[in-house]
Amino acid sequence: MSKFYAKEGQMSMRKCAFCVNYYDPTNSVIAPRLGTGAWEYEANVRKPCRAKANQGVLSNSTCSKFVCKI
Ligand code: SF4
Repeated sequence: MSKFYAKEGQMSMRKCAFCVNYYDPTNSVIAPRLGTGAWEYEANVRKPCRAKANQGVLSNSTCSKFVCKI
Protein backbone atom coordinates (compact mmCIF):
# COMPACT_ATOMS: atom_id res chain seq x y z
CA MET A 1 0.00 0.00 0.00
CA SER A 2 1.16 3.52 -0.78
CA LYS A 3 1.34 6.09 2.02
CA PHE A 4 0.78 9.79 1.51
CA TYR A 5 0.96 12.80 3.82
CA ALA A 6 -1.59 15.47 4.68
CA LYS A 7 -1.38 18.60 6.82
CA GLU A 8 -4.18 19.75 9.15
CA GLY A 9 -6.21 22.64 7.76
CA GLN A 10 -4.81 22.26 4.25
CA MET A 11 -6.26 20.92 1.01
CA SER A 12 -4.04 17.85 1.26
CA MET A 13 -6.34 16.61 4.04
CA ARG A 14 -9.45 16.81 1.87
CA LYS A 15 -9.47 13.06 1.17
CA CYS A 16 -12.05 10.38 1.93
CA ALA A 17 -9.64 8.90 4.50
CA PHE A 18 -10.22 12.01 6.67
CA CYS A 19 -13.95 12.37 6.02
CA VAL A 20 -16.66 11.56 8.60
CA ASN A 21 -18.62 9.77 5.89
CA TYR A 22 -15.86 7.27 5.09
CA TYR A 23 -16.72 4.16 7.12
CA ASP A 24 -13.52 3.43 8.99
CA PRO A 25 -14.50 3.27 12.70
CA THR A 26 -11.00 2.24 13.83
CA ASN A 27 -9.27 4.88 11.66
CA SER A 28 -7.22 2.07 10.17
CA VAL A 29 -6.00 4.06 7.15
CA ILE A 30 -4.81 7.22 8.95
CA ALA A 31 -2.13 7.88 11.56
CA PRO A 32 -0.77 11.09 13.09
CA ARG A 33 2.84 12.11 12.57
CA LEU A 34 3.46 13.10 16.16
CA GLY A 35 4.65 16.64 16.79
CA THR A 36 4.33 17.74 13.18
CA GLY A 37 0.61 18.54 12.67
CA ALA A 38 0.78 16.16 9.72
CA TRP A 39 -0.98 12.87 9.10
CA GLU A 40 -0.28 9.95 6.87
CA TYR A 41 -2.88 7.86 5.08
CA GLU A 42 -2.93 4.74 2.97
CA ALA A 43 -4.07 5.27 -0.60
CA ASN A 44 -6.45 3.08 -2.61
CA VAL A 45 -8.28 1.55 0.36
CA ARG A 46 -11.94 1.09 -0.58
CA LYS A 47 -14.58 1.51 2.15
CA PRO A 48 -18.28 2.46 2.20
CA CYS A 49 -19.29 6.12 2.07
CA ARG A 50 -22.31 6.91 4.23
CA ALA A 51 -23.10 10.01 2.15
CA LYS A 52 -23.31 7.90 -1.02
CA ALA A 53 -25.56 5.01 0.06
CA ASN A 54 -22.54 2.98 1.26
CA GLN A 55 -20.97 2.92 -2.18
CA GLY A 56 -17.29 1.96 -2.01
CA VAL A 57 -14.91 4.90 -2.32
CA LEU A 58 -11.12 5.07 -2.26
CA SER A 59 -9.26 6.63 0.67
CA ASN A 60 -7.47 9.05 -1.64
CA SER A 61 -10.64 10.26 -3.40
CA THR A 62 -12.70 13.32 -2.45
CA CYS A 63 -16.00 15.04 -3.25
CA SER A 64 -18.07 18.12 -2.46
CA LYS A 65 -19.66 16.36 0.56
CA PHE A 66 -16.34 16.09 2.40
CA VAL A 67 -16.53 16.83 6.18
CA CYS A 68 -13.24 16.60 8.04
CA LYS A 69 -13.16 14.31 11.10
CA ILE A 70 -9.82 15.54 12.43
S1 SF4 B 1 -16.95 10.38 -1.28
FE1 SF4 B 1 -17.17 12.43 -0.40
S2 SF4 B 1 -18.58 12.20 1.34
FE2 SF4 B 1 -17.83 10.16 0.77
S3 SF4 B 1 -16.09 9.77 2.11
FE3 SF4 B 1 -15.28 10.67 0.19
S4 SF4 B 1 -15.20 12.89 0.57
FE4 SF4 B 1 -16.51 11.98 2.14
